[in-house]
Amino acid sequence: MNDDCIFCKIAAGDIPADKVYEDEEILAFKDVNPVAPVHVLFVPKDHIAGVNDLNERTAAIVGKIFLAAQKVAAELGVADSGYRIIANTNRDAGQEVFHIHLHLLGGRRMGAMG
Ligand code: 5GP
Ligand code: ZN
Repeated sequence: MNDDCIFCKIAAGDIPADKVYEDEEILAFKDVNPVAPVHVLFVPKDHIAGVNDLNERTAAIVGKIFLAAQKVAAELGVADSGYRIIANTNRDAGQEVFHIHLHLLGGRRMGAMG
């Protein structure tokens, strides 16, 4: 728990969020400022600042998050139509919250990368 981190506070239940998935290690909730009809954020409950901070000990959480995202995509009806999973990292990607998270985006046609 990082006291200055908004996603740690959401994971701890100190700040409300529209949760769509939870297990022992992972929480998923709707993005407060959605850019697609389906826009869900997946976070590990333990604080990791970003992709650059992953290591051999913590990296397995990313695979678990992909499995959670696969389930949520099916539940929200975008598994077949398609979806995008994004992890913004640092300035050029526009990372705003420094608690690692994957965006699940779907429900509309998306353009090419970049
Ligand atoms: P980033 O640019 O860091 O990848 O994206 C952070 C995302 O978190 C943004 O899409 C933003 O809308 C979302 N976000 C920031 N604060 C909150 C919050 O308090 N609650 C929720 N549900 N989403 C948030
Ligand atoms: Zn955090």
